[in-house]
Amino acid sequence: MSSPPPAFVQIAAERCSGCGRCVAACRQRIFTLEPRGRRKLAVMINRKPCDRCKRCIENCPTGALFTAPS
Ligand code: SF4
Ligand code: SF4
Repeated sequence: MSSPPPAFVQIAAERCSGCGRCVAACRQRIFTLEPRGRRKLAVMINRKPCDRCKRCIENCPTGALFTAPS
C-alpha cells in the first residue's frame, strides 16, 4: 500500500500570524483558527475538499502557506 499524497497546501506554522485570512478566503472551509498558547494558529481541519484554487496562498500576508511538492 502506498501512503496518501501530501496535502496540496501546507502551513509553515512558525510564519502564521493567526490573522484568519485563509479561513475567509477558502470556499471549501478547510481552515480554522485554533488557540496556541496566547496566540492563534491556522490549522487544516478537512483537506479532502481542497480544489487547489490557491486563494488561501494568495491571501496569506506572511507567506505561511505554500504548495506541497507533488
Ligand atoms: S487551495 Fe483553495 S480550496 Fe485548497 S485550501 Fe486553499 S483556498 Fe481552500
Ligand atoms: S492567512 Fe496566513 S498568517 Fe493568516 S491565519 Fe492563514 S496561514 Fe496564518
